[in-house]
Formats: sequence, C-alpha cells, structure tokens
Amino acid sequence: MFNITESMIRLYLFWGGIIFFLILELLIPYRSSSVSKPKRWINNLALTLFNSIVINLVFSAAIVGTATYAQTHKLGVLNMVQAPVWIKILFTVVFMDFILYVWHFLNHEMPLLWRFHRLHHSDLNMDVSTATRFHIGELAISAVIKISLIFFLGASPVGVLLFESAVVLCAQFHHSSLQVPKWFETVFWVFFVPPSMHRIHHSVIIKERDTNYGTIFSLWDRFLGTLLSDVDQTRIRIGVGAYRKPEKLNFHQLLAMPFTRPIR
Ligand SMILES: [Zn+2]
Repeated sequence: MFNITESMIRLYLFWGGIIFFLILELLIPYRSSSVSKPKRWINNLALTLFNSIVINLVFSAAIVGTATYAQTHKLGVLNMVQAPVWIKILFTVVFMDFILYVWHFLNHEMPLLWRFHRLHHSDLNMDVSTATRFHIGELAISAVIKISLIFFLGASPVGVLLFESAVVLCAQFHHSSLQVPKWFETVFWVFFVPPSMHRIHHSVIIKERDTNYGTIFSLWDRFLGTLLSDVDQTRIRIGVGAYRKPEKLNFHQLLAMPFTRPIR
C-alpha cells in the first residue's frame, strides 16, 4: 500500500514541481535564453522520460523495498539507537544530503565519473528542465550507492521519501532561471542552496564549476571549503567549454557522451 501512495506522491511532486517552476520562469525569468528553449526542453524531457522509465523499472522498488526490509527487521545504525522517530527522520535527510554532496564532489574529481556527469553540465542554459538532465549511467551508480546507504542506516521509508522529495524540489528550484528577491537569496543561502549559488556551479570556468556541490543544504560547502559566492552573476556563462554547439547536443549524442573523448 505504501508503495502505491509513495509512487503517487513522487509523481505529483516531480511533475507538479516542473510545471510550477516553469510557470514562474515564464513570468519572472532571471535572464532571456541564449539558445532555443524548446530544443533544449525536447532533449531534457526525452532524457527525463527515458531515465524515469529505467529507474522506475529497475531501482524504485529496490529503494523502497530496502527501506521497508531494514525497518521490519530492525537493521542498520538508526535501529540500534533509541531516539524519537522525528530525530531519526531528520538525521536521515541530513546525512543522505551529506553523502550526496560527497558523491557530487567525486563526480567532478574522478575522470570516469565526470564522463557521465558532464552531460548535466553541458546544458547551455539553466532552467527547471536542467534539474533532471542526467545520464542514466550516473543515476544507476547513484541508485546503488543510495540503496547501500539506506541499508547501512536502516533508514525508514518515510525518511527516504522525505529526503528524495526534498532533493527533487530543491534541485528544481536551484536550477530554475528565476528572478529571486535579493533578501530571500541572502537568507536562504545561510542554510540552503539558492539559484545564484548553483548558477556558479554551472559556470564554464572550471575553478567556479568545481565549487558549490550542495543539493539541499549549503552547510557542507561552507564547512568543507568548497563554497564560492564572490562571483559577478551577470557574466556567468553556463555550460562546458568543449560543448558550445547546440546542434551537437541532441538526445543520442548526450547518451553517447560518456563514451567519447575525455574533456575537462
Ligand atoms: Zn556538478
């Protein structure tokens, strides 16, 4: 029963978030597109649909199943300690976000992982559709890591659902091309990742790109020295230096990208 309700919540949040931020982007865009938005959307949505089908068929049941199994059999670190349920759920969200930070850092630092992750960064503009522009290879490896982590933690299905929902909505928000009030960005940036922080991460300049790895919380970047804020936002060019031609960034070329020449 939880499986059906849980997958409906995921589905509504995911598509609801995309539609919500798309409408906001059309009403209050951060800046106008430099390349065709419909063409980018066709590729990004094709990837999103393809990834959703594969992930749903192969991994979603395993993720929820692992959390349910760990909870029923009292497995994992969280089942060894006595603490209120809400503290365990909060710990699950915070700790899994930290591991996601480490995973994202490794995607930039390890050449093999960067081969896959560069697809995400090759988008020539950033908007809500960029949030789900990933190579299936990256998502598959990350799903295996996530399943192992859930097993190790003994994370509950509710904790995992909350973490994944927060990741989806935060990623959609900070990839969006939105005019966000300055005061909101300043306050939000203390704990979380606003669009301006993640825009720096999508810069073509490598030393700017290799910063700001956070997804939900900005705290990991702040504590571990990877935070960069002092950048003139108006001059940030989005993308990867080696991929500047939109006609070479179509769906089939994006899928083949990890298996082509190495680039930084
Ligand atoms: Zn990245």
